Amino acid sequence: MRIELDRNVCQGHGVCQMNAPNLFRLSDEDGLAIQPTNPIPAEFEDEGRAAVINCPELALKLYEDQDATDVNEEQNASSARN
Ligand code: SF4
Repeated sequence: MRIELDRNVCQGHGVCQMNAPNLFRLSDEDGLAIQPTNPIPAEFEDEGRAAVINCPELALKLYEDQDATDVNEEQNASSARN
């Protein structure tokens, strides 16, 4: 599993750090999240998923194995239905 951070979208809320403290921290320099090291260790995958799903700016994308799973698109589709 991989997580890709788009720092052009990130606003530095730190929600990712709250959800996945073993994967995310905010930069002391610009206050934005720092790209976690991929692949995500198996023991941290659940918190990684929580971080991706809960990022308010949709700045995180989740990739399971070789298949690109864009959770953000799923979020958008869900929002559109509501
Ligand atoms: S929750 Fe999203 S927008 Fe906020 S710091 Fe983390 S990656 Fe950036």
